[in-house]
Amino acid sequence: MSEAGVIHGLGGPAGAGYGRPVDRDRVDTSHGPILYLDDITVSFDGFKALNRLSLTIDRGELRCVIGPNGAGKTTMMDVITGKTRPDAGTAFFGQTFDLTRLPETEIACLGIGRKFQKPTVFENHTVFENLELAMKTDKRVRPTLLARLSPEQRDLIARTLKTIRLEGSEDRRAGSLSHGQKQWLEIGMLLVQEPELILLDEPVAGMTDAETAHTAELILQLEGAHSIVVVEHDMDFVSQIARKVTVLHEGSVLAEGSMPQVQANERVIEVYLGR
Ligand code: ADP
Ligand code: MG
Repeated sequence: MSEAGVIHGLGGPAGAGYGRPVDRDRVDTSHGPILYLDDITVSFDGFKALNRLSLTIDRGELRCVIGPNGAGKTTMMDVITGKTRPDAGTAFFGQTFDLTRLPETEIACLGIGRKFQKPTVFENHTVFENLELAMKTDKRVRPTLLARLSPEQRDLIARTLKTIRLEGSEDRRAGSLSHGQKQWLEIGMLLVQEPELILLDEPVAGMTDAETAHTAELILQLEGAHSIVVVEHDMDFVSQIARKVTVLHEGSVLAEGSMPQVQANERVIEVYLGR
């Protein structure tokens, strides 16, 4: 990788000319994965929450990350989003965006969308307004809270409503939705910002079986158009969406492969599945 293509986000004329080989605002995956983590270590008072973690995600890939409590799953997402700085290691979004140096707000603008476990929708606004607000606070575009939606934006909201199974519920107050519907609405609030990479931390926690099954369908629908990393404990759910699965344990990758492969792995059975 040439140094010229690396944007450190530390001020300076990052977007200014000089034959820059990449579009500053688009992730460049022409020669590799969309997410590249190598040898990442994060220590909290000497305790290694991540211990030389290496993991790559291809563009359009759907990856499940499982592992016992405390394995480092959320910390991994914190590193990807710039919330936590690793003590050592490399983290790149595409080939040019150094996630260990860019500010958290800038990383969000690059097209990495994260959904935390607890839904954080605006309860007193309607479903439609929630999507509209999410779209208009998209930091990649000028602040346009008072502007009317363009036909393209309306179309995107309409498509998103369909994807998140809230078509026909756009005028409902978000506070009146079920827990599962709020989770979907929050996924919709990510989708209207058209992220390249979506990080979902325990998306089916607290959902009914029917809601969990719908969420699996929803995530499978997003596959290909987005790269998705799903962190989840619920093994039935993971089985429904699993392609390649990564098992984390004590801050490192314990095993990686198809669901049947990791389920048959002796070390995985020992530390996780066999409990
Ligand atoms: P997971 O999401 O897999 O359950 P986490 O990434 O939340 O695991 O946590 C990994 C380990 O790091 C845990 O032992 C946790 O207690 C510890 N940890 C996480 N964040 C902090 C922090 N800010 N300060 C101290 N320890 C932390
Ligand atoms: Mg966690």
